[in-house]
Amino acid sequence: MSPPRRKRLSPAEKARIQEIFDRFAARTDHPRTELEFHNPYTLVVAVALSAQATDKSVNKATQKLFAVADTPQKMLDLGVEGLTPFIQSIGLYRTKARNVVALSQILVDQHGGEVPLNREALQALPGVGRKTASVVLNELDIEPAIAVDTHVYRVAHRLKLSAGKTPDAVERDLMAIVPAPYLTRAHHWLILHGRYACVARKPKCGDCLVADLCPSRELFLGA
Ligand code: SF4
Repeated sequence: MSPPRRKRLSPAEKARIQEIFDRFAARTDHPRTELEFHNPYTLVVAVALSAQATDKSVNKATQKLFAVADTPQKMLDLGVEGLTPFIQSIGLYRTKARNVVALSQILVDQHGGEVPLNREALQALPGVGRKTASVVLNELDIEPAIAVDTHVYRVAHRLKLSAGKTPDAVERDLMAIVPAPYLTRAHHWLILHGRYACVARKPKCGDCLVADLCPSRELFLGA
């Protein structure tokens, strides 16, 4: 993969961004996804199931599912009908069940039952879009990527790391400004920060680790 294009920043802005990520790193050096998985295949399935669902709800379903089916062949043996009861507490479960079985079939037929660890082949799998592929490649330390979900999008805007209007635009901005050594971990830090501190409705600015570096702080403290 070609290295991300870097953006030229003023020294003050560069120092601010460096400090934000230094603090995230000092607090949680090795952040990982909160989704539970046992191997690259269960990671792909868990991430695919997590679209428009919480990690907690996915983990609850996959604890039982992965005990029965943790390989593409076992998932095929289960089939859509067998898989559905495990995941019906998760949103869009019918489509997700079809996609998981279809992607398992492709893995068996075309990849020897293994998950191909490159973006192009991953995104060719049913139900695996750019965001899912980014999460998988990043989690397995194969390719630095910043998948932009609702938390990352919100935090990036509030911290004025991006003014992008789409997830792809925010991702491009972040890849261009996050200090290079932090690129593989930034995704998790931003999600965790959005999930537990910079929450959507009432961000906890009073307890925020990076409050003094945040241009939006006054907005919320004054609210
Ligand atoms: S100061 Fe408030 S708005 Fe800014 S990042 Fe922290 S929690 Fe979010």
